[in-house]
Parts: sequence; C-alpha cells; structure tokens
Amino acid sequence: MPPPVFRFAPSPNGLLHLGHAYSALLNFDRVRETGGRLLLRIEDIDATRCRPEFEAAIYEDLAWLGIAWETPVRRQSERLADYRAALEKLSALGLVYPAFESRAEIAKLVAAREADGPWPRDPDGAPLYPGEANSLPASERSRLIASGAPYALRLDMAAACRQVSGLTWNELGEGPDGERGLVAARPEAWGDVILARKETPTSYHLSVVVDDALQDVTEIVRGQDLFHATSVHRLLQALLGLTEPIYRHHGLIRGTDGRKLSKSDRSTGLRELRAAGISPAAIRTTVGLG
Ligand code: GLU
Repeated sequence: MPPPVFRFAPSPNGLLHLGHAYSALLNFDRVRETGGRLLLRIEDIDATRCRPEFEAAIYEDLAWLGIAWETPVRRQSERLADYRAALEKLSALGLVYPAFESRAEIAKLVAAREADGPWPRDPDGAPLYPGEANSLPASERSRLIASGAPYALRLDMAAACRQVSGLTWNELGEGPDGERGLVAARPEAWGDVILARKETPTSYHLSVVVDDALQDVTEIVRGQDLFHATSVHRLLQALLGLTEPIYRHHGLIRGTDGRKLSKSDRSTGLRELRAAGISPAAIRTTVGLG
C-alpha cells in the first residue's frame, strides 16, 4: 500500500497564528505516526489578499516549528488550467450558470425575501443565493456576457443533487456537534455556491477538491470551521469522478475571548510568540500537543 498523503494548505493572506500551528503540527504528527507524506499547498487564488511576503513567512514559521514537507510546493495561482478543466466538466454536465448580481444587489434581494419571512442561511451563516439567474433566457445571458458585465459562475445545486445523492464521508475527527464516523453530506444546505468568477476560473471549494485529488491526498486534517464545507467537497468529488479522502476535522484554538483566532491578532501570531522568546516546544504545549 502506498503511504498515506497529508497536506497543510494555508492561504498567504496574513501571518500564521497558533491555530495554524495546531493544524500543521497535527498533520505532521499523523505523518510520523503513519509513515506518510506531508504536502504543503499555498492557497493563493485570491490575488487581492495574498502576498509573497506572507508566503515566505509560512515557510519560515513552519520550518521553525520543526515541520518538514515535500517540495515542490503546489501554488494554486499557477494551476488555474486544472481548475478550468474541472469547471468545464461541471459545465458539460449542465450544472453551472452565470449570475450577474453584485454583492449589493444580492443583499437587497435577501432583504426583500426576508420581508416575507426567514430566508435560509448556509452553515457559515450567509444567506443562500436568492437570485434567479439560473432561469435567465440564453439570449439575455449572452447579451450580458458580451456587454462585459461581471459575473459569478454558480453551481445549480438542485440539479447537482439530482445527479448524485446519498453521499457520505468518513470522519475520523469530530464535527462541531460531535459528528463522527460515517457522516451524511448535506450539500443542499449551501445553495448555489460560487465555483468561479469571470476573472478567476476557480473558488476555494473547486480548487481544494481538484488539488486534493491531483495530489493524491488520502487524509485531510483541518479545522472544524471547514467541517460543513466537506458536504460541498464530497458533491464536487462525486460529480468530477474524483477519489474520496478521509477527513479528520479538529477543534479550533480559541482566543481568551472564546473567539476563533484571526490573522490580524498579534498576540497569538507565531512571529510575535517567537520574538517574545517562546520555543517551538512551548508552542506545542500551548496548543495542547504536549
Ligand atoms: N486554505 C484554507 C485556509 O487557510 C484551508 C483549506 C483546507 O484545509 O481545506 O483556511
């Protein structure tokens, strides 16, 4: 049997904090326990927020923690053709449509719907897509595209769920409500998610499943904040005919206020802790890995 493959996949849009250290160390510990391989993936498709100095800091901070990974590192911004190919496959299945509303127009539509009663929200708390771009006549679609209007490419969730249903995943960690073992995927809870935008041929959901498959990742160790997104990932994997990894979601390291750590909070940043003389061993203890 080939060795298991793990990955740590940070976005270089800020400096790493204790939460990243916990996730990276959990991956590294699993690699050592299983004789597996550790890949590092730089999730930098959001060109407006990602910066080369943050990427350089990721390498430095992980090495300081004593973590070793395989090279070359996969950088998503260099792999757009892979995501475009997956998007075309989903389009060919008749599951992708352009939606032209701006964020402000979407907020207005949601407010209008909420006037009639509660409008459903996704597991992250964002309102589901309220628009009707899926039923725009083809001529109107072509006219808007030709006019240069910006758009998002959305997944027709209802149609996708008719093509594949009954999806599950194997959870070796734990979801926020204690979910473990065989978990039923509920992608419909996310509505018509964005798969790509006019200027970016991918999104987090699409690139993560494409990369995990192309990199032969077998066990995904990541924070519980992505537990529910796994439903969308399983759906995309099934539609694209990709292999199914196992998942090990871990609890989040929280600040003293009980909130999720943020990249802008200096007190839990690895840089600051290191500058304050904290050792990598002490970081391990702080995140509960002893
Ligand atoms: N890039 C994501 C993040 O930094 C992690 C993606 C994943 O592990 O699936 O939160």
